[in-house]
Amino acid sequence: MVDYVADRAVVLGGGIGGLLAARILADSYRHVSLVDRDRLLGVRDPRRGVPHGRHAHALLAKGQHILEELFPGLDKAMAAEGVLAGDLSGNLRWYFNGKRLSQARTGLSSVSATRPVLEAHVRARVAELSNVEFLEGCTIRGLVTTPDRKRVIGVEVLDDGAAAATQVLRADLVVDATGRGSRMPAWLEEFGYARPAEDRVKIDMAYTTRHFRLREDPYGTDLSINPVASPAFPRGAFFPKLGDGVSMLSLTGILGDYPPTDHEGFLAFARSLPAPEIYETIRTAEPVDEAVSFRVAASVWRRFDRLREFPAGLLVFGDAVCAFNPVYGQGMTAAALEAVALREHLQRFGDPQALRFFREIKPLIGVPWEISTGGDLGFPGVEGPRTLKVRLANAYMSRLHAAAVHDGAVTRTFFRVAGLVDPPAALMSPGTMLRVLRGGRATGPAPAPEHALT
Ligand SMILES: Cc1cc2nc3c(=O)[nH]c(=O)nc-3n(C[C@H](O)[C@H](O)[C@H](O)COP(=O)(O)OP(=O)(O)OC[C@H]3O[C@@H](n4cnc5c(N)ncnc54)[C@H](O)[C@@H]3O)c2cc1C
Repeated sequence: MVDYVADRAVVLGGGIGGLLAARILADSYRHVSLVDRDRLLGVRDPRRGVPHGRHAHALLAKGQHILEELFPGLDKAMAAEGVLAGDLSGNLRWYFNGKRLSQARTGLSSVSATRPVLEAHVRARVAELSNVEFLEGCTIRGLVTTPDRKRVIGVEVLDDGAAAATQVLRADLVVDATGRGSRMPAWLEEFGYARPAEDRVKIDMAYTTRHFRLREDPYGTDLSINPVASPAFPRGAFFPKLGDGVSMLSLTGILGDYPPTDHEGFLAFARSLPAPEIYETIRTAEPVDEAVSFRVAASVWRRFDRLREFPAGLLVFGDAVCAFNPVYGQGMTAAALEAVALREHLQRFGDPQALRFFREIKPLIGVPWEISTGGDLGFPGVEGPRTLKVRLANAYMSRLHAAAVHDGAVTRTFFRVAGLVDPPAALMSPGTMLRVLRGGRATGPAPAPEHALT
């Protein structure tokens, strides 16, 4: 018999963060309700509440390991539907600082699922849990507390259905996973608590995405072509193939250099990328939709871990805590790491202790935060303190990427760290440092694409 810690948990938001929280809470609460303003069940297309879901999303290796542990067979289920998968470096073509990295097998797989498809698979698995209910089409209006405001005891939601009625969902625990637009700081203030401080790095970046039916194959055995933005080449792209001859091209621009949505402007931006095969492919390809854009003003980490007081019966999760610069692909994996931390926390304490939980997830967020904001501070236009550590790290990473152009072992080490599987210290092991300082052991030029472009 299951030893539940309490009767009911309510999760606010049914994105990846909310789904992972619900999966964990279902082991500890008799009933879990997941509330979202969108219709969720059976949905496999981009939805209104997740406009960023239209753009390229890659799940880092660590996140994939965790998802597979929480939902055994997830990878196989996606593969059975034709979702492509391969080795993170062996089958993905990466450009850093304008140069193509040597491709080496990492043993880490990369699944080419779009965000809506990945979310649909995770959601289907959560929906199979008998004690989880989905309250769809419900807008979250606010929290309900005890009169002394020391404990959250429920949520007020507006059911957008025919009756358009407001109702209060009673809860022993409320988890806010409403994403980067979360109203938690305002709610805390309203209840007489301090707002969390915010660590913020302004990036002023945008994704613009369009799908194409290709007439030529630039991939060979690769699954995606990804020129990553760097200070020397600030324009980037993710160009995964999705199957049936269709590819998604997400262009990325930073510091106000937004990739245009009009056809000519989109093509011109693609032409300026350091991976010429992308432009050469889409110039003759058939667009299958209109381009859409999404802007991200800043990376934001709300420092709930620094608060001294917080209401009982309340947690915050996923992007509502920390929203990273998306080009590093860290957000879903950070949510997965928080899910594992929540499981351990519940096992240890039963009734969650919010401030302790926030301190437990601090280092899990801190590592990807340092990687991504440190990388962003390498762009001269990004404002923020460039500590000696940041300057040394960026100088070293630039050499490391140069070494990885010829040395697959360096590529492998890099992706194990970027994939959050190994700690950043792995980049500084004596063996790797030696390879980096030598500029990479000459192992011959990076392999050419199997299909030459005309
Ligand atoms: C352009 C872009 C590209 C990205 N690429 C990657 C990537 O490659 N890899 C990666 O790991 N991460 C990526 N991310 C980050 C990733 O999308 C998030 O980190 C991840 O989805 C976790 O988000 P979340 O579930 O916390 O919030 P969200 O995905 O924002 O979900 C929030 C949910 O809350 C619901 N909601 C919000 N307010 C209300 C309300 N008032 N009432 C009812 N419902 C509400 C919304 O409908 C939504 O379903 C990217 C982000 C962006 C912007």
